[in-house]
Amino acid sequence: MKLVLLGAPGSGKGTQAQMIVQQLNISHLSTGEMLRSSIVMKHPVGLSVQSVMESGGLVPDDIIVSIVVDRITNGIPRCGYVLDGFPRTLAQAVAFDSALHLLGSELDHVIELAVQSDALVERILNRAAEAHAKGQTRRADDVPEVLKSRMLAYASQTAPLRDYYSAQGKLRSVDGMQDPILVSRAIRDAIGM
Ligand code: AMP
Repeated sequence: MKLVLLGAPGSGKGTQAQMIVQQLNISHLSTGEMLRSSIVMKHPVGLSVQSVMESGGLVPDDIIVSIVVDRITNGIPRCGYVLDGFPRTLAQAVAFDSALHLLGSELDHVIELAVQSDALVERILNRAAEAHAKGQTRRADDVPEVLKSRMLAYASQTAPLRDYYSAQGKLRSVDGMQDPILVSRAIRDAIGM
């Protein structure tokens, strides 16, 4: 099963991806997590994208596409994957479709988590406060001034992917305002699992 989770920052992609990987025994590929760990490891790619991430912008398409294609080409250990945070631009989606085509593969479903915009900001600020309360490091981009750029990037560059995948007959929209357990159930219903 090859899935994409599409949704604005704070829509619950990370939470739902973790539930899906356990239920379907597939791999979780989060581009945000990959980039954050490459920053922690002081890898050259991480260091080159750190400032754009911290300002809420998008990492260049060629960098992110090559990271994801490399992961997929070099073997996903389990029977499929869920992509969380990728693709985020039309150019990434087109390049990824071409790469999959060359591998004789294609996406099965693209799940959109629909959440009202005022709830998104509240969820992210709560996430930051919870991390802080637990003594964990807060994400550098989970602050109000950067959140605005992340939301704008989503609206202008990622939201158009709905039409792209809808034209392919792959888009499944799920109400992301519900309790996470119900969202998870709705996702499995949408993909027939
Ligand atoms: P996330 O953890 O998915 O919210 O991603 C955190 C940040 O990583 C984003 O705000 C971007 O700066 C960067 N990022 C993650 N995935 C992508 C992507 N597919 N394309 C461009 N930038 C990305």
